[in-house]
Amino acid sequence: MNQTQTKPWSPDPVTREILEELRSELGACMQCGTCTASCPNGFAMDVTPRQMWRMVQFGMLDQILESKTFWMCSSCYMCTLRCPRGLKLTRAMGALKRLARARGTWKIRKNSAFYDAFMDNVEKYGRVQETSLMPGYFLKSRDPLLPLHYLPLGVRMMKAGKLHVPSSAQKGRLKKLFAKVREMEEES
Ligand code: SF4
Ligand code: SF4
Repeated sequence: MNQTQTKPWSPDPVTREILEELRSELGACMQCGTCTASCPNGFAMDVTPRQMWRMVQFGMLDQILESKTFWMCSSCYMCTLRCPRGLKLTRAMGALKRLARARGTWKIRKNSAFYDAFMDNVEKYGRVQETSLMPGYFLKSRDPLLPLHYLPLGVRMMKAGKLHVPSSAQKGRLKKLFAKVREMEEES
């Protein structure tokens, strides 16, 4: 039996204040589940969007930030468009990402490794370049065993001719778009 005790994380007052703002924004959620049913990435989330809003209402900060749900959110706005209460759900997912990145523990921030590597890759190349995406992910994860985990998949992809040398044909094409989104996020 593992006797290791996990020390609970005590969030600082600023973190608690941000959570309170989210709680008041999401207080009108009636748990209808439309956001979850609409989410194209819901199948890959450990906590569904509907459950996430309930956790926010209950102030379950540690469980919220340890979830990978908001890192799986691709900001498609489908949930925001379809929520019958008109809640700003994509913005809330974005706020949780920023909160975890800025104020979470290292273990929590580690969950962002793939998201950050993916977004860096798309911003740089204008599309996903898988042969440079994975090294970026391994570096950001700081987990020396992670490449071994993906080795069989890499071999299968190579045999199937799915791995390509990075192309610079679309390089920088999306930089302005990324800059605009950053500007909008800072204003929100
Ligand atoms: S669609 Fe809106 S009201 Fe329904 S569960 Fe999601 S956030 Fe709540
Ligand atoms: S904005 Fe995020 S949470 Fe909402 S439907 Fe799109 S991927 Fe899902």
